[in-house]
Amino acid sequence: MVDDRLRTPDAVRDAQRWTAHNYHPLPVVISSAEGAWLTDVDGRRYLDFLAGYSALNFGHRHPRLIAAAHAQLDRLTLTSRAFVHDQFADFCRELAELCGKDLVLPMNTGAEAVETAIKVARKWGYRVKGVPDGQATIVVAEGNFHGRTTTIVGFSTDPDAHDDFGPYTPGFRIVPYGDLDALSAAIDDTTVAVLIEPIQGEQGVVVPPEGYLPGVRRVCTERDVLLLADEIQSGLGRTGDTFACDHEGVVPDMYLLGKALGGGIVPVSAVAADADVLGVLRPGQHGSTFGGNPLACAVGTEVVRLLATGEFQHRSTELGARLHAGLHELVGEGLVAVRGRGLWAGLDIDPALMTGRQACERLAERGVLAKDTHGSTIRLAPPLVVTEAEIDEALTQLAAVLAG
Ligand SMILES: *Cc1c(COP(=O)(O)O)cnc(C)c1O
Repeated sequence: MVDDRLRTPDAVRDAQRWTAHNYHPLPVVISSAEGAWLTDVDGRRYLDFLAGYSALNFGHRHPRLIAAAHAQLDRLTLTSRAFVHDQFADFCRELAELCGKDLVLPMNTGAEAVETAIKVARKWGYRVKGVPDGQATIVVAEGNFHGRTTTIVGFSTDPDAHDDFGPYTPGFRIVPYGDLDALSAAIDDTTVAVLIEPIQGEQGVVVPPEGYLPGVRRVCTERDVLLLADEIQSGLGRTGDTFACDHEGVVPDMYLLGKALGGGIVPVSAVAADADVLGVLRPGQHGSTFGGNPLACAVGTEVVRLLATGEFQHRSTELGARLHAGLHELVGEGLVAVRGRGLWAGLDIDPALMTGRQACERLAERGVLAKDTHGSTIRLAPPLVVTEAEIDEALTQLAAVLAG
């Protein structure tokens, strides 16, 4: 254990020196990782309770994912979609089966999956539903986070994400999250889709009222509107099921996936839907140079296989119960409220005590890395390979931070 942190301050300063300040990272500099553990340049170890915003659901460098990546690196890495490669069919078929859908369209980042969903929904609206050209509307929720493109930030209600990036893409209607009447009232003959997170991660792991998602499903079906579920952060085991929608038996018309689909190794995203929806796209109408590349497919296929056994979903349920039980004991002891599902929790810290940022800085000093979402709210999302003892350790350190 190296006690005097000689390298860290310099390394933090260097890291900020040559980049735009679009992030405010905690003052740690990571150099290696395994499972739920990170090691910094001074040899200090930290429990990773952010897990790359859920991109690391299977932990750092999961042996099966690393092996899949290595094997693929030695054979073929990129072809573009101009040619077919031998990893493509398995990935698309196995992911489609996991989703219970006919078809998959692979992209790279989450924001690209969202853009894909918007384009497909609009085209479906014009070609299938019969919306007059150029009139399509999509209903979204207040407090949403769907990514950072110019179109997506236009319907963000977070001033940091939204302001100064206009003019904004028209065609979106924003309604309060969790209010079915408001959502229903926002739908008219021009509406092609409802785009929603089944749990709002960036908003602070906000779980909608019970019955809301089934209600959204019912309204969408009745009004001939596509339900687009952004499961980029909530999906792939995080909440204890494959998809957060599963908890209430809701099947969207399209799943939007990203983050953990890349196994913490490469950016992999996708949308999955039936042929009557994704089938509206013809050659030349959408694409991506790197989307569905051989390395991405090899890793993504292994991710799907890890999920197909249900083992990680089960871990998330079991260990999530332990995490939430421990967090609920801290309500009144520095925590005002706790929300979430599975290994995913949003905590509101008593604002009189400290900000979320301060809490995360103090947790880092105690060997646990987490991230504030805004104000005094922090999110905990350990990798699904975390152990009971590691959860207990994080809870002990959180209790110590809250006790001052
Ligand atoms: C992270 C995230 C995105 C955007 O993903 P990127 O890979 O960062 O573009 C979209 N939707 C949700 C719910 C997310 O959490």
